[in-house]
Amino acid sequence: MYRTNNCGVLRLKDVGKNVIMSGWIKKIRNLGSIIFIDLRDLYGITQLNLINYFNNKKKINNLGREFVIKVEGQVIERFSKNFKNPTGEIEILVKKLKILNNSLVPPFKIENNTDGNEDIRMKYRYLDIRRDIIKNNIILRNNIYIEIRNFFLKENFLEIETPILINPTTDGARNFYVPYRKKKGFFYSLSQSPQLFKQLLMIGGIDKYFQIVKCFRDEDFRSDRQPEFTQIDCEMSFVDENDILNIFEKFIHFLLKKIKGINLNKFPILTYEEAINKYGSDKPDIRFDMKLFELNDFSNKQEYIMGISLPVCFNYKIIEEILFFFKKKKIKQLIWIKYLKKEKFKSSIEININLMKNWAKSLNSKCGDLLIILLGEKNIIVKNLGLFRIKMSKRLNLIKNKIFSPLWIINFPYFKWNKKKSCYNSLHHPFTSPEIIDLKFLKENPEKIKSKSYDLVINGKEIGGGSIRINNSKIQKIIFNHLGFSKKKIEKEFGFLIKSFKYGAPPHGGIAFGLDRLISVFAYKENIRDFIAFPKGQDGKDLMIESPSKRE
Ligand code: ASP
Repeated sequence: MYRTNNCGVLRLKDVGKNVIMSGWIKKIRNLGSIIFIDLRDLYGITQLNLINYFNNKKKINNLGREFVIKVEGQVIERFSKNFKNPTGEIEILVKKLKILNNSLVPPFKIENNTDGNEDIRMKYRYLDIRRDIIKNNIILRNNIYIEIRNFFLKENFLEIETPILINPTTDGARNFYVPYRKKKGFFYSLSQSPQLFKQLLMIGGIDKYFQIVKCFRDEDFRSDRQPEFTQIDCEMSFVDENDILNIFEKFIHFLLKKIKGINLNKFPILTYEEAINKYGSDKPDIRFDMKLFELNDFSNKQEYIMGISLPVCFNYKIIEEILFFFKKKKIKQLIWIKYLKKEKFKSSIEININLMKNWAKSLNSKCGDLLIILLGEKNIIVKNLGLFRIKMSKRLNLIKNKIFSPLWIINFPYFKWNKKKSCYNSLHHPFTSPEIIDLKFLKENPEKIKSKSYDLVINGKEIGGGSIRINNSKIQKIIFNHLGFSKKKIEKEFGFLIKSFKYGAPPHGGIAFGLDRLISVFAYKENIRDFIAFPKGQDGKDLMIESPSKRE
C-alpha cells in the first residue's frame, strides 16, 4: 500500500492517526537537531517530522529534492503552525521511510516563483506541471470541461466527433499536410475546424451538436495562438441570430457562475461599425471607457478628424512617448491639447479657442485631460487610435484586472478586400450567410454587404465567433464566385457541400469558442500556453520531445 491519505487532507482532527503517505520531496530543512521534509503531491503539501532519524543521518543524507518517498507515521499537532497551508497545523512524525525513486537535481526550482525560463520549463514540462501555477491551470481546465458538458447535456446537445484527417481547402489559414501512404502525391490535411462536418450534421437532422475539438492551423506564432488548439464547437438547426446569441450568452453566464461564482448582466451588443467607430477595434476592451470620437463637425477640413481624451498628468515625457508611438505608425498630423482648466488650454499648435472648447466637449474631456487629435485617412486613424487606446489603458492602469466585460459584435461586413491578392476574402468564412437583401450590392459595392455573423469578445479578446450559414446551393455558389473561386476549385473542394444543400438543408447556424483563450481569460492571464498541458513553444516547436524532427 502506498498511501492511506494524500498530502492535502490531514487536519488537526486527525491527530493521533497512523498514516501512510507517498509523494515528492519538495524541500528538506535540516535544522541540526531536527529535520523537516515538505512532502508534495497533486493535493497539497504535508510536513514530515524526522526527529526519529536524528541518529540515522545516513538515510537522510541520501535524500534529495524531488525524490519519491513513502512514509509511515503518526499525525501530530505542530509546534509552530503555518496557517497559509491547509495542512499547516499538523505534521507526520515519521516512523518508517522508504525511497520509491531517486531524482536528479531538477534544472529549475519547482515553485511558483521559479528561476527557470520558459524554454527550460518547456523542455522539462513534466517538472513544470508539478508547480502549483501550472497544476492549478490544468485543474481549472478540467473543471471547465465538466461544466461545458453539463451545460450542453442540459440543453440537449449531442456530443459528436468529426474527422481530423480531411481534405485541404485553399482559403483561410495554412494547412498541415499528412501524406497518404497508399498513393504518392496524395495528402490529407489536418482539420482547421469541423465547420463543414457540423453543417453536414445539421443536414443529417442532428439538430444540436457540440464538440470539444482539436483544430490545426499553420499560422504565425503569438502568445494567444497555438498551431494546435481547442475549440468548443457548436451548431444548431432552425435558429436565427437571436436564438444563437441567447443560448450562448446563457452558456457563458453558466460557466462564469459555476467556475468563478460570478453573475453578469446581459451582454451589450455592438455592431461592427459601432465598435470600430467607438473603440477602433472589432474586439474592444470595454473594461474601461476612453472612447474615440469623430470631430469633423466643427471643421471644414477635408481630412477625417478623430480624437481621444486621456486622464493623464501632463508632462513632456508622455507627449514624447505619444508622438513616438504615432510616428512609428506613420501618422503625420497629430495635435495635442492640454485641458488646463475651464476655458484654458495649451496646445501643440495655435488653435481657435472655440474649436478647442467644442473638441473638449465632444471628447467628454475633463479639466486636466490630455486630448490627442489625429487628422488623415479614416481607416488608418481609427485603427491606430484603437491601438493607442489599449496601450494607454495599460500605461495609465485603467484596467481593473479581475472583472469580466463581455460583449457581442454583430453585423460584420461580408467581404474584405485583399490588397496583396487583389481579390475579396470573406471576413468570417464563405459558408456564412450574407444578409440576403444586401446581395443587391454584390456588383457595385460588395463591401456594403453585411453578414449574419457574430463574435463574442471578453476583455478585449475574441473568445468566440460564428454565423448563420448558407443552406442554399445557389447562394453558396454566388459567394464562392465572388471570392474568385474557380469552377474547378468549387467542384473539387466543396462539391459535396453544394450537393448536400440540395437534399433538404435546414436553416442552421453555430459558433466556436477558443477554449484555451477562454480559460486564460477566466484566469485573467494572457498566455494560453500555461493552460495547455503540453503546448508548443516559440516557432511551433515542442522542446521536450524535440518535434518537429527530420524524417530519416
Ligand atoms: N468554424 C468557425 C471557426 O473556426 C466558427 C464557426 O463559424 O462556427 O472560426
